[in-house]
Amino acid sequence: MNSPSLAIIIPCYNEELCIRAAIKRLLEVLDDLVSKSKISENSFLYLVDDGSEDSTWEIINEYHNKDNRVKALKFIRNFGNQKALIAGLEGVRNLGCDCAVSIDADLQQDENAIEKFLDEYAKGADIVSGIRNNRKTDTFIKKITALLFYKLMNILGAKIPLNHSDYRLVSRKALDIMELYTEKYLFLRGFFNEVGLKTAYVNFDVKKRIAGESKFNLISLMGLALNGITSFSVVPLRLVAVLGFCMALFGFLVGVETIIEKIFWHNSPNGWATTIILLCVFGGIQLFCLGIIGEYVGQVFREVKGRPRYIKDKELI
Ligand code: UDP
Ligand code: MG
Repeated sequence: MNSPSLAIIIPCYNEELCIRAAIKRLLEVLDDLVSKSKISENSFLYLVDDGSEDSTWEIINEYHNKDNRVKALKFIRNFGNQKALIAGLEGVRNLGCDCAVSIDADLQQDENAIEKFLDEYAKGADIVSGIRNNRKTDTFIKKITALLFYKLMNILGAKIPLNHSDYRLVSRKALDIMELYTEKYLFLRGFFNEVGLKTAYVNFDVKKRIAGESKFNLISLMGLALNGITSFSVVPLRLVAVLGFCMALFGFLVGVETIIEKIFWHNSPNGWATTIILLCVFGGIQLFCLGIIGEYVGQVFREVKGRPRYIKDKELI
């Protein structure tokens, strides 16, 4: 079999401190893999500049002029890491490659694992997912929220392995299938797990960021998590219905009990506290359920508008 052509996708947002080192290192990885005949010579890097405001794009240009294996796309503004990844996957599919790996610009993910990804691909896997060996570099809050998110997603029916990441290899076949999923807010971790292609897992070490700071905060992570849940599970909606039914039943029983007390024992109402507590609890539950439904309505609203996923500004190919 001929060696496959590999495209390495690198989303970058204000990564002027990291991007030089990342490009140099990943070109070395390409050279090494070509010399081992694991990939073909027309393999390349594909950087997606997610609307950086610093000199990231200028640096990418500089490398593109020196080496044609450095290809890139720039968004007109910041659209977020998921959109950058999707644009990368679509971009390399159009340029032509047999498989693609996505990796962060800060090289937190051990780039040596790409060779192991390719070995699994050679054995027939269409998706090779990188699994973090640990979360040593994550903050306490991120560790806890990530754990909760993955547990919740699994309870809700989207089988995503714990310590999953967007560091993965996908085959041409997977890229072609992705094109069929036209939803704007595609949640890649959910998509690649539910699609049913042959999947392999490779463990990798997480390193410290080579420079700069994380571009994610609690709010953006919560947005990602909510998008993941609402686009891959309707279980919360069903739970709301079940909860509503239970509440109605409870309310009915309490009502019957009150009437019986009133008729047979002529009890005067002496339950202020109980009334207030019940009001608050039920009011809270109702608002919470409305919020859940609201998230889904929001998801429908965003999709139905049919706006483009992202807008390209420039491309270097
Ligand atoms: N990123 C992006 N758009 C954004 C935020 C981040 O393309 O709006 C890129 C970023 O440049 C990096 C990758 O996504 O290559 C992961 O981001 P980061 O390292 O900040 O996240 P963390 O590792 O802290 O989860
Ligand atoms: Mg990082």
